[in-house]
Amino acid sequence: MNSKLPERPKKKRSCGLRIRTVQRARHSSLVRVASTRLPTTFGVFDLIGFERANVDKGETESALLLMLGDLHNRAPLLRIHSQCVTGEVLGSLRCDCRGQLEHAMSAIADEGSGLVIYEYQEGRGIGLMAKLKAYGLQDKGLDTVEANHALGFDTDYRDFSLAVAILREIGIDRVRLMSNNPKKHEALTMGGIEIVERIACEAAPNPDALAYLRTKKEKMGHWLTVA
Ligand SMILES: [Zn+2]
Repeated sequence: MNSKLPERPKKKRSCGLRIRTVQRARHSSLVRVASTRLPTTFGVFDLIGFERANVDKGETESALLLMLGDLHNRAPLLRIHSQCVTGEVLGSLRCDCRGQLEHAMSAIADEGSGLVIYEYQEGRGIGLMAKLKAYGLQDKGLDTVEANHALGFDTDYRDFSLAVAILREIGIDRVRLMSNNPKKHEALTMGGIEIVERIACEAAPNPDALAYLRTKKEKMGHWLTVA
């Protein structure tokens, strides 16, 4: 194994945890479906597949946990990443997803330790086909937020509670978060995960993604340097 997990915390839960217990009651318990070793161009990661039934949504949520190195020597680097088939598989330049994932995995490999939680939340949770419809509307001049709203969706459907559950499952309660998204920061903090440092996760911008990045900065409050 390439990753050393810390002991799961055994301390008594405080009353602050009761809220999370209630929230988690809407989900079945987390299941470790499979564990394996994953050699990548960045390094050899340990990979665990997790599933959990989301009672509210009536569906099973899945996520991959990629781990590298010693995770309890210090608060580990963490990237919570949402699937983007168009960017990561097809090489789309409409967004920065692939660049962000590669940046995060590279940073973890450089440091020799860290975590990526990869969630199936395509298109900020609306799904691949709906994302393609939103792209069609963006071709006609709407921005990413307006397009989601025109299709009857919220700006962002992701809640990141599965990522919090995975971190708790493996006994990680302090992280250095690689993210530009204030919602992720808030979700982890609310879930009892201490963010000891927030590290920007910006890919080199490309001209096709500039409008998208500006919208994320201006309408979704993402911490981005794009002007
Ligand atoms: Zn993308």
